[in-house]
Amino acid sequence: MYDCLIIGAGPAGLTAAIYARRANKKVLVLESTTYGGQIINTLDIENYPAESKISGIDLAKKMYEQARSLGADFEFEKAVEIVDNGETKLVKTEDDEYEAKTVIIATGTETRKLGLENEDKLTGRGVSYCATCDGNFYKGKTVAVAGGGSSALYEASYLSDIVKKLYLIHRRSEFRGEEKLVHELEKKANVEFVLGANITKIIGEKKLEKIEITSEKDVKTLDVDGLFVAIGREPKNDFLKGLKLDDSGYVAASEDCKTNIAGVFVAGDNRVKQTRQIVTATADGAVAATAAIKYLNGGYYATH
Ligand code: NAP
Repeated sequence: MYDCLIIGAGPAGLTAAIYARRANKKVLVLESTTYGGQIINTLDIENYPAESKISGIDLAKKMYEQARSLGADFEFEKAVEIVDNGETKLVKTEDDEYEAKTVIIATGTETRKLGLENEDKLTGRGVSYCATCDGNFYKGKTVAVAGGGSSALYEASYLSDIVKKLYLIHRRSEFRGEEKLVHELEKKANVEFVLGANITKIIGEKKLEKIEITSEKDVKTLDVDGLFVAIGREPKNDFLKGLKLDDSGYVAASEDCKTNIAGVFVAGDNRVKQTRQIVTATADGAVAATAAIKYLNGGYYATH
């Protein structure tokens, strides 16, 4: 029986593990892929205090090693269901099941898809959701990036140094992401903005060949070797019956990270919040673990 079972080994989950272990609670962290969450796809992080520039992988490794050295257990298994048995919770994974007195859900968000035919079939065959992972395959080639937020601008900026030609396709005429990046991209000779346009078809048999673009003016096709989709992320919080979510699927919990179910807490990007950054995820990890410790101690938790 674990005191605290944490689902997700991103910055929120790893910080929760550090706090819970420092309170001497028995901790298990479940992670479906690798530790670090979405930061492992970020080349350089420059907005995490005390680290003026660090790669996402290095920052994740530091957090993971800290949690491990404090004695948190890790299992790399995908959690699929949480059963609320009152004083204990049963967490089922694809391979096993674990019992705990408290659960912290720190599952973050998943990449949003365009939802087009062929998108899944051609993922890994031209369609990608991560420039730092797959960009190198497109050296000297033509690619498109879809999206108008910071992620799309960062992906485009990274890829523009690798590819021959890049189309940045956004459905509105204004970007949501950082203006500084937009200006930098405007100056690049190999970058073309396609604004006010939606990608309406992904075309290719064995690999991506073309995309169809539809705007108010016309419908056209572009020959591309790669399509990088960077249109935001979505939460996945459907594994606990009765867990209160908002209309977009985020866990309805405020700054105290408590959910509507006793003994179940939430930390990080998958809860309702204004700002989703690494530093706000780690802050949530500390708050959720502190709340879990207080719950385990029957309401008492000494703050220092
Ligand atoms: P985002 O800010 O939500 O932007 C998503 C973009 O995709 C928007 O431009 C949106 O268009 C577009 N979009 C959404 N659904 C679409 C669809 N079905 N078809 C076509 N376009 C669609 O997401 P994000 O860029 O991933 O950023 C998420 C958060 O992470 C933000 O708070 C951002 O600041 C932060 N972030 C920070 C850094 C950093 O600090 N280094 C890097 C990346 C991201 P509309 O504009 O029309 O809605």
